[in-house]
Amino acid sequence: MLPQFSYVRPATIDQAIAHLKAGDAAVHAGGTDLLGCLRERIISSREIVSISSLKDLTGIKETADGGVVIGALTTITEIGNNPIIINKYPGLARGAADVASPQLRNQGTLGGNLCQKPRCWYYRGEFHCLRKGGDMCFAMNGENQFHAIYGHDHICAITHPSDTAPNLVALDATVKVAGKKGKRTIKVEDLHVLPVDDVQADTVLKQDEIITHISIPPPPAGLYSSYRKVRARRSWDFALAGVALALVIKDDAVLQANVILSGAAPVPWRSTEAEKVIEGKTLTAEIIDKAARAAVATATPLAKNGYKVDMFRGVLTEELQLAGV
Ligand SMILES: Cc1cc2nc3c(=O)[nH]c(=O)nc-3n(C[C@H](O)[C@H](O)[C@H](O)COP(=O)(O)OP(=O)(O)OC[C@H]3O[C@@H](n4cnc5c(N)ncnc54)[C@H](O)[C@@H]3O)c2cc1C
Ligand code: SF4
Repeated sequence: MLPQFSYVRPATIDQAIAHLKAGDAAVHAGGTDLLGCLRERIISSREIVSISSLKDLTGIKETADGGVVIGALTTITEIGNNPIIINKYPGLARGAADVASPQLRNQGTLGGNLCQKPRCWYYRGEFHCLRKGGDMCFAMNGENQFHAIYGHDHICAITHPSDTAPNLVALDATVKVAGKKGKRTIKVEDLHVLPVDDVQADTVLKQDEIITHISIPPPPAGLYSSYRKVRARRSWDFALAGVALALVIKDDAVLQANVILSGAAPVPWRSTEAEKVIEGKTLTAEIIDKAARAAVATATPLAKNGYKVDMFRGVLTEELQLAGV
């Protein structure tokens, strides 16, 4: 059952920020995650601030320099189907199309997708774990088959749930944020928080801050952008292992590589090891194998998720092979 809360739908961003500033309030965009979190007592806000009337926060627009700005309230469906996104950033379009089910994509927004809470079953259940302010991580020695193999530091092993975030990181995207102290821009790569830095924080956003827009720089000449997600069921599962690639390829050589893993770590996980191997090289079978091995060499799997190591090696190999042809 949902707890009691008051509900407001401000007409301006300043009014929305004023409500959030007042204290115990949460942003409501599409509500597909928020309502579940309220029901599961993961979020205990007494005031829900709907931003759905803020029309400035919708839509996808090309910028004069050839980049794209996406309003935070733009639905995942719109992103997956938009011809500009499909043409310029196919990896992001694929990531959006791979999110959840058609119903959730129609209702869920990009801002909400970036800020959604993790899916660890202890966290979503009745376990008062570290992330909820308790004193232990139940997954560390428990049922951790779907948990992280990177970046958990044996503190909290959630995997970041978003399929759009790894693509936005790969594409060097930024979020524009508005709050009581004004506006600021944050790289999507710096938006999410590792457990070692703060086990209870999902993002670096302050209580009164709202993501208004997501900006993606113009695609560089020779950009190869892709996303691959492995999941247990095709219908609506989160990633077991995924990879977002943004490679700049010229004359058969990879000039610049962004290799971001999903389903891997508490944040979208950059494989600097794989990037180092492929940058400046042609994607031969030998280089691809070396990169995939380097990517998994630093993994720290838990007792029940060692299978993910082979899965990431395989997914990365296949995706780099596709990029190389
Ligand atoms: C069954 C199920 C399966 C799913 N599978 C996937 C999947 O495979 N891949 C995937 O990527 N996602 C998946 N999701 C997550 C889904 O994509 C998100 O629920 C959705 O994108 C959230 O968008 P929303 O607009 O509904 O957010 P809301 O539910 O409204 O909000 C989610 C969170 O973000 C905050 N928030 C929302 N907008 C903003 C903003 N503009 N600024 C600051 N904070 C904000 C809210 O306060 C809340 O904490 C799944 C969800 C469900 C329920
Ligand atoms: S992995 Fe994180 S969210 Fe899950 S039980 Fe451990 S501390 Fe809690």
